[in-house]
This record gives sequence, structure tokens and C-alpha cells, in this order.
Amino acid sequence: ALRVEGLRKRYGGLEVLAGVDLSLKEGEILALLGPSGSGKTTLLRIVAGLERPDAGRVYLFGQDVTHLPPERRGLGVVFQDYALFPHLTAWENVAFGLKGPRRREKALAALERVGLTLFKDRRPHELSGGQQQRVALARALAPGPRVVLLDEPFSSLDAGLRAATREEVRTILKGLGTAALLVTHDQEEALSFADRIGVLRGGRLEQVGTPEEVYLRPRTPFVAQFLGQTN
Ligand code: ATP
Repeated sequence: ALRVEGLRKRYGGLEVLAGVDLSLKEGEILALLGPSGSGKTTLLRIVAGLERPDAGRVYLFGQDVTHLPPERRGLGVVFQDYALFPHLTAWENVAFGLKGPRRREKALAALERVGLTLFKDRRPHELSGGQQQRVALARALAPGPRVVLLDEPFSSLDAGLRAATREEVRTILKGLGTAALLVTHDQEEALSFADRIGVLRGGRLEQVGTPEEVYLRPRTPFVAQFLGQTN
């Protein structure tokens, strides 16, 4: 579904991505894990088209999208701060990016999928963190993207809500067959949410594998040590 090749990015003298190759299969959930500053968000922003790589390519379903603007990549994006419009209701937020006469129906269908039909007329401040999170997800999914990018989507939820929301989101993505590339700090989240995990360190992917592979058979001392530490 998604492939990146040889991605490099520098900010001034700092090499943030040092040649990253990665691919995501259709319907697959892949979590990027790594220390702060290892380049996770930068990688996601380049895939989204919000940042230009210095070198390398981004392909979506075989098409080179490296130079396409974000809105022409057909991706769903959920970033950490949700960025819902405070003055719009839940359904209006979801409908915002939709076009055509059936946008209301489409928005309501997307809200139903995340279990928020009863909350459709509420504004963000009248919703819990988890509900806002689901509105953001409904908005990202409403246009029917085949790939979504999720940057720390659960980090502002409290621990109890986080596990439940994560499970719901996983079920929704799997039900739709939507592939997801996710950035997280949280090892437990990567383990329970993702089909595969990529461990970044200093702008390089040290290992990509199933949770079992990276935990039980770490390929480098760094991976072993990083996954061994508890949050
Ligand atoms: P975190 O887990 O803390 O979010 P990360 O792995 O997502 O970290 P990035 O956000 O990709 O890391 O940032 C990697 C490095 O690039 C950091 O050292 C950061 O300070 C730097 N950086 C990111 N964006 C910019 C920018 N626009 N200008 C200059 N430096 C930047």
C-alpha cells in the first residue's frame, strides 16, 4: 500500500532521517517506535506530504507521490492534537473535508462506525477526550482512504480509556481493511496495536518485524535494550 525508499532529511546540521526504507502492506498496521528525536514524526510528515525529503521517494499503491501536495495523496491523517474545529459539531467536523450532496449522510455513517451517532450534534468541548479522538478518526476515515497516518493518536487519553479506544480503533481499521502507519512512544501500545513494529534510532530503522520478532529476537543491542526498558 505504501513504500518509502531511501528517505533522507536534514535540519541544518542535524541528520534526522538517514536513509529509511519501509513498506506497508494493504490493511496492515505498522507502528514506528523509537526514542524522542529519532525521526518518527518527521517520517510521518514526509509520507503525509507536509515535509519534503532531501532524498528518497514515497509511493502509494505504486504511484510516486513524492512531489504531490498532501491533499492529493488520498491519505487519512490523525495527529496528536486532533485539530477539530471547536465551533463545529461532531458531524460538521467529519463532513468538513467531504464534497457533494451526500456529505451529511457520509459523515453520519462515519460517526456511526465509531459509535458516536448519539453525539453527532455536540461540539468538541462537550465530548470526552476519547470521543474527540473518535471524531478525528471518523473524519480521517470518512473519505475512504486506504492508508491512514496516526501520530501518537492515543497519547492524550488517560490509561483506562487508552486501551479501550485503541482496541476499538484497531477493530475499525481491520473491519475496513485500512492500512495504518502509527507513531508511538509506548511499547505496550505498539505491541498490542500493530501487526509489525519498526524501531527507529537516530534516523535509521534498526529493525522491522512482528512484535514477537522484535521482542524475542532483537537484531541489535539497541533494540534489545530499548524494548527491555519499561515505560
Ligand atoms: P518525539 O518522539 O520526541 O516526537 P520523533 O522521533 O518524532 O521525536 P522528530 O519529531 O521526527 O522526532 O524530530 C527529529 C529531530 O528533528 C529532533 O531533534 C527535532 O528537534 C528535529 N526537528 C524536527 N522538526 C524540525 C524542524 N522543522 N526544524 C528543525 N529541526 C526539527
